[in-house]
Amino acid sequence: MAVIIRKDEAVVASLRAAVLRWYDGHGRDLAWRKGERDAYRVWLSEVMLQQTTVAHATPYYDKFLRLWPTVGELASAEDGRIMAEWAGLGYYARARRLLECARVVVRDHGGVFPDDEAALLGLPGFGPYTAAAVAAIAFGKAANVVDGNIERIMTRLYAIEEALPAAKAAVREAAAQWVSADRAGDWPQALMDLASLVCRPKAPLCGECPLATACLAFQRGEPERFPVKLEKAARPRRHGVVFLIIAGDAVVVERRPDKGLLGGMLGLPHTEWRDRPWKDAEVRGPDLEFTKAGRYEHVFTHFALTQEVWLARISGVQGQALIRTHNDWQLLPLADQRSLPTVFHKALKFETYGSLI
Ligand code: SF4
Repeated sequence: MAVIIRKDEAVVASLRAAVLRWYDGHGRDLAWRKGERDAYRVWLSEVMLQQTTVAHATPYYDKFLRLWPTVGELASAEDGRIMAEWAGLGYYARARRLLECARVVVRDHGGVFPDDEAALLGLPGFGPYTAAAVAAIAFGKAANVVDGNIERIMTRLYAIEEALPAAKAAVREAAAQWVSADRAGDWPQALMDLASLVCRPKAPLCGECPLATACLAFQRGEPERFPVKLEKAARPRRHGVVFLIIAGDAVVVERRPDKGLLGGMLGLPHTEWRDRPWKDAEVRGPDLEFTKAGRYEHVFTHFALTQEVWLARISGVQGQALIRTHNDWQLLPLADQRSLPTVFHKALKFETYGSLI
């Protein structure tokens, strides 16, 4: 592990106060900071913000709070409804764990989140980051919250040369030096805002930063070199054929198996996503007259997908007959197509293919 050179404690105390003053004047006005600090709201926002931008997550957060204002109401929601309302937010395993966690909170904790980091860590979907964030922000506990933003500030502040992810232990040690019971909940939020508005990944505004006097990366004139990252391996590419079957004013969809990618979500029927393109003769789909309508790209975390769209138009009556022959299939009104995960929703833009020719 990289050895960090600890900063003088008096310097830390004075700069910590300066960051909190900056936060009081410049902190972002975020939906989940309005009203009381309630563990359910903090948790919901943290789960939604994993791998998603604030702008993208905010309407989902507002919608979930409107539909399910308490963890108890969320726990009693139907799985399919949660998945449908989550559609578009990505990383669907999080939605499944969200529901699982709400049910554990109701079953094992009387509908109240535990206020202790260790107990929070035992809940489904809680990793060290979420447990620390909820303990600090909702319960004011002095927890060491380290997300990608705080990681960026710490690697710059201490000029940590070790590459991520190996540097995570050193980053945690650096961040721990700043944790204090004083405004424990504001501190991680202040750092996240500072990272988002000032210590940006590209072109950080060091001239406006309350930490500049102690920041080694700034003093060396190379803030953007941190955090040091290992070269990423190129994403592998996979290929698939998706069957876009329009039955009257509905589309044929399938309920995906609970386990695996996009588990439990609705999706369009498709071939296996494999590492070489499909030849027409290899494709086994429903016995319908298909037209090749085009292809599109979609990028998952671990692979990029090229998906060819095979389009068939049938009547509503034929659609009913078709779904009777497939247990997991159903008809989704075209008006509700937004409830499909993005990788399938993209195929719907080919629905007008042929109608304009
Ligand atoms: Fe980031 Fe610059 Fe502030 Fe250092 S001085 S923490 S690099 S914004």
